[in-house]
Amino acid sequence: MTDAKTQSGMDAEAALPMPAGRALFGMNLEELGQVAAALGEKPYRAKQLYEALYEQRVTSVEGVTTLSQQLREKLTAAGWQIAMPQILQTATSVDGTERYLIRMADGETVETVWMPDGDGGERGDGSEAAEEEAKEAVAAADAAASETAFMRSSTARVDGGYWSRRGEGRDIRNFGTLAETGFRRATICISSQVGCAVNCQFCLTAKFGIRRNLTAGEIAGQVAAVLNRHNIQIGKDRINLVFMGMGEPFLNYEHFMKSVLLLVEGIGIPESRMTVSTSGILPGIEAFARESVRPKLALSLNASNDIVRERVMPITRKWKIAQLLDACRAIPLRNREWVTFEYVLLGGVNDQPEHAREVLTLLKGMRAKVNLIVWNPGPGIDYKQPSAEAAAQFQSLLIEGGMPTYIRRPRGRDIYAACGQLKRTVVEERPHLVEIGAAAF
Ligand code: SAH
Ligand code: SF4
Repeated sequence: MTDAKTQSGMDAEAALPMPAGRALFGMNLEELGQVAAALGEKPYRAKQLYEALYEQRVTSVEGVTTLSQQLREKLTAAGWQIAMPQILQTATSVDGTERYLIRMADGETVETVWMPDGDGGERGDGSEAAEEEAKEAVAAADAAASETAFMRSSTARVDGGYWSRRGEGRDIRNFGTLAETGFRRATICISSQVGCAVNCQFCLTAKFGIRRNLTAGEIAGQVAAVLNRHNIQIGKDRINLVFMGMGEPFLNYEHFMKSVLLLVEGIGIPESRMTVSTSGILPGIEAFARESVRPKLALSLNASNDIVRERVMPITRKWKIAQLLDACRAIPLRNREWVTFEYVLLGGVNDQPEHAREVLTLLKGMRAKVNLIVWNPGPGIDYKQPSAEAAAQFQSLLIEGGMPTYIRRPRGRDIYAACGQLKRTVVEERPHLVEIGAAAF
């Protein structure tokens, strides 16, 4: 991990500011052990704290009832807070997708998305979620019924614009469990940075530039906050995670990987239910290949040759498609694991039959699948959506060439929650927003 960070292209992360403060959420067992030791407490206190933070997802030091009142006071007096990120605003789509504006302890915000019944991105990747989805596809009528059930239970949640009232979602554990809303599983799409520095020409997040990296606690904390909102019981409810929100996870590699461990070992979500998407940060992919606990990989290919890719993803100047594919080929894939290649279809730019044929040549012989994403428009971005025929033909050509290919179903377009539509929304009136257990450090 450390060697990857020092390689060119990942140096940028060292220069970005990080929040200062004493946040417990995000610490691993060893670090919590140091906190306990510094307060003159026994090591088993660290285990109690760890369980409270990640298994029980407690949101305030006061709420950690496994610790004595005296110890809770000692922690608070020493400036320790849980500082789990907070849901500040929500927007609910007719398809059940929810988009959240989530605030970190220093006031920075990111967006996180909840997609009941998954985003379709897991189809064909060999994961547990994919197998579930394959079985469930046959029961289409069922899906329609759950959509209706959700509409019945959710329609009153959006007030006027996209966002509901400020603070509406904070620490409320009563928004209906998965079963109550008629869904069988859900996918949470998480952000890894505040903004993004990669500058893909078709992506709204790129327009906002980069503010800073998220810490491991801020990445895993988005999941904890959303799980709390929906009263999710890990082990009972089936939750998938995609690191596909704002930011480039491999330009925040160490915090991203630390968050994976907290999510797997602490919160209890198996890594086989997680997928990370990268725009193609070569040293990141190489480091990732060496990890023993890691999500599945999705690479944003988005073009069939370097010339087109450089136009839509200028980062291609640094790392060519062939280098990225070699690095993907070197990943030791586990049983039933595939590498996913995402391909945003941009009308007239990369959606022609010759592009499909080039993709087939590129991916030949790889244990791969392709996820086609119809481009989602955003203000100030000058691309066109492909025609439905072009998208269908592109898919057919790939399938005929032997490549499993899916068109990802767009989720939450009406609330700007679909791929590439997330942006950093500026939060004004910050003083009013400091509340429960996560006041500014
Ligand atoms: N930064 C990472 C992960 C977040 S973007 C990455 O780029 O891979 C997740 C996916 O959304 C990527 O495959 C990206 O190519 C795609 N995407 C970005 N903007 C989009 C848009 N406007 N419409 C459709 N997909 C988009
Ligand atoms: Fe960043 Fe991904 Fe958007 Fe590119 S597509 S700008 S890497 S978030």
